[in-house]
Amino acid sequence: MNPMIILWGVLVLAGLGLILGFLLALAAKFLHVQEDPRIKKVEDMLPGANCGACGYAGCHDLAEALVKGEVKKASACKVGKKEKNFDPIVAYMNSTPGPDGKITQISD
Ligand code: SF4
Repeated sequence: MNPMIILWGVLVLAGLGLILGFLLALAAKFLHVQEDPRIKKVEDMLPGANCGACGYAGCHDLAEALVKGEVKKASACKVGKKEKNFDPIVAYMNSTPGPDGKITQISD
């Protein structure tokens, strides 16, 4: 086998990797969507078990649903329901406006 064929194959794949990596880096920079910072705060206050018992894929998705107003009760989290400690989440959500200046009211 001609070693030049192998060398060209390696060079072509390395070049493709560099170009695609560069395009991915550009896409990540320019297509980045700013997430409502309340989602991360609420997620941090949830148990973090990521069990899916709430019907969402994980704690992040339930936090997002709470912030968007799709879920009105923090007790949708079945793990936290046993501990009955939703007060920090309810207090935070009922007092913190989002980027649009609106407060999403929830209960426990
Ligand atoms: S039930 Fe609670 S702990 Fe489980 S994924 Fe949902 S929010 Fe997270």
